[in-house]
Amino acid sequence: MTFRADLHCHTTCSDGSKSPQEIIELAALTLQGLSITDHDSIKAYDSVLPLAKSAGLLLISGIEFSSMHLGTSIHVLGYAFDLQSEFIHNLCQRHVQRRKERNLGILELLTKKNVPISEDDLIAANPLLKDKEQHTIGRPHIAKAMMMKGYVETIQEAFQRYLAENACCYVSGTPISTQETIDTIHEANGFAVIAHPHLIGNARAVKQLLEMNFDGIESYYAKLSFNQERKWIDIACKKGWLITGGSDFHGDFKPQIPLGCSWTTEETFRKLYERFQSNNQQFPLENFV
Ligand code: AMP
Ligand code: ZN
Ligand code: FE
Ligand code: FE
Repeated sequence: MTFRADLHCHTTCSDGSKSPQEIIELAALTLQGLSITDHDSIKAYDSVLPLAKSAGLLLISGIEFSSMHLGTSIHVLGYAFDLQSEFIHNLCQRHVQRRKERNLGILELLTKKNVPISEDDLIAANPLLKDKEQHTIGRPHIAKAMMMKGYVETIQEAFQRYLAENACCYVSGTPISTQETIDTIHEANGFAVIAHPHLIGNARAVKQLLEMNFDGIESYYAKLSFNQERKWIDIACKKGWLITGGSDFHGDFKPQIPLGCSWTTEETFRKLYERFQSNNQQFPLENFV
């Protein structure tokens, strides 16, 4: 059986529709390895380590940090870091504040465009958000509320018309730089990986990212064709960086993408797992044999 580790998925702790527990159960059916990479949050790891161990699933710490370089939004994946690192916790806290301000900014712009969304609308469309502290609130939650109010037919349409980076109601909030994000992951003894590089529209930004001290490139992604993946695999090989892969599973928020449709090889995952174990010895972890 081919070894498969999906290193990119989202739970209800950010903009996924499955709970951390459900993701572990689903992953254990078809995968050997997993990392949960919620946006700017590691809350899922409060509960999943014992579940993964009892399901025989190799799980490593993960996060997808939002960052900014040359005015372009850059997602940075962090892996195998110390789950108790103050550096990671502090950066997550700064994102909580950034998101509070930017989400209010987005809602204000939507009101100006005559498609108002209230906090009650957000919660009606995303009932789990009632417990605010436990969830990273992002644009997909706003898009879902817009759909439920009948302003748009699909989440995709909400992004195209209002919420995408180049659309009329986009707000980034106080940016946190990509370099600072890499440094934070390194301070927590983790690996910093460029997420879905093909989605970065700014070629100058991509060129500069490739000169930074990243440790890897997410080269296998969702349902990309091998021709599209090959470019990033070649770059990672030349640099001696890790070649990672994952589905970017969001459940109902992106129903066309199943968990495990892209994955990381056993050889690469082993390096990540060894680092994860050495950083997190206080937790009961599955052995990689
Ligand atoms: P946020 O963290 O609030 O900036 O939202 C980022 C998330 O929005 C991404 O991880 C995707 O899940 C989703 N997203 C971004 N762009 C689009 C798009 N054009 N269509 C649908 N979903 C998108
Ligand atoms: Zn997302
Ligand atoms: Fe992303
Ligand atoms: Fe993602």
